[in-house]
Parts: sequence; structure tokens; C-alpha cells
Amino acid sequence: AGFTVAIVGRPNVGKSTLFNRLLEQRKAIVDDVSGVTRDRQYGVADWNGKTFNVIDTGGFVSKSDDVFEREIRKQAKVAIEEANAIVFMCDVSTGITDLDSDVADLLRRTSKPVYLVVNKVDNPQRQLEATEFYSLGFEHVHFISSMSGSGTGELLDDLVANI
Ligand code: GDP
Ligand code: MG
Repeated sequence: AGFTVAIVGRPNVGKSTLFNRLLEQRKAIVDDVSGVTRDRQYGVADWNGKTFNVIDTGGFVSKSDDVFEREIRKQAKVAIEEANAIVFMCDVSTGITDLDSDVADLLRRTSKPVYLVVNKVDNPQRQLEATEFYSLGFEHVHFISSMSGSGTGELLDDLVANI
């Protein structure tokens, strides 16, 4: 029950770094059911007195390239079904990749709110580079550094605005 936010995106964009930061002030709920393939992590986050569930997808995806793309697409679909809002994470250091565009196409078809989060925006140069991501056409766009925490407060404000 409650409001659930899923973090989706291709590997290495920084999903788990953001997930851990969101859960910083609360203990992560660890699902340790043995024998179950766990491709998602669940946790609870707090922001300004508002509590919501967070799903980190793709933590345990196979590294083999051919199953990769299929897995990401599958996880994005599951996230769309389970979540009330979706954080679609991209990485400014690689720019927009083909896989980003594929996931964007998938996410544009949902009526649930999508928050495009461009991560690794660690400095002013990257702030400039990140503007290319506006071309993906999402209404909510945030430039953040999951590593330093820059921009994450504004993202959280936006996420909880409708809870
Ligand atoms: P995931 O595969 O999407 O879950 O990505 P991870 O959270 O595991 O991060 C992948 C790599 O990106 C790690 O080496 C992180 O330290 C790095 N990373 C994550 N966030 C940032 C950031 O804001 N800036 C920079 N420079 N690196 C980051
Ligand atoms: Mg991860």
C-alpha cells in the first residue's frame, strides 16, 4: 500500500546510488527470500514527513548483452505496473543512447507521471551538456548528482508534491 516510485534506466546510470541516498535516513528493507531471483530492491523513503516506497530495478540483471535490452524493457514494464510514479534515469556522461530512447518510447505510453532524471551532473559543464535531454520530451526534468546529492532535494519536492 502507499505511494510507490520506481527507478528505471539502463545499467550504470546511477540508479542504486540514488536509491541508497533516498533511503539514507531509513533502514532499507531487505528481501532475503532464498531461492527467489531478486531483480528489484524495495525500500521506504521519507521526505518532509511524506513516506513512499522506492523500487530500484535492474540491480541483478545478467551482464550478457543479448538479454540485456530485453531485461531492461521487461523491468520498465513491471515498474510501470507496480509504481505510481516513475523515475527514468539517464547519464549525462554518455549522452542519450539508443537504449535510453527505447525506454523513453515505452514510458511515454504510460499515463503515470514520469520524472526524467539526468544523473552525474557533477559540475557546470555537465549542466550545459545535460540540456540535450530536454529533447526526450518529458515534462518533469531534473539534473542531479546522486553522488554529491546536488539536485536531489528538488527532485524529492517534485516527487512528493502529489502524495
Ligand atoms: P546502476 O547500475 O544504475 O544502479 O548504477 P550505480 O548506482 O551502481 O552506479 C554506477 C556507477 O556510477 C558507480 O561507479 C557510481 O559510483 C557512479 N555514479 C553514480 N552516481 C554518480 C554521480 O552522480 N556522478 C558520478 N560522477 N558518478 C556517479
Ligand atoms: Mg543498480
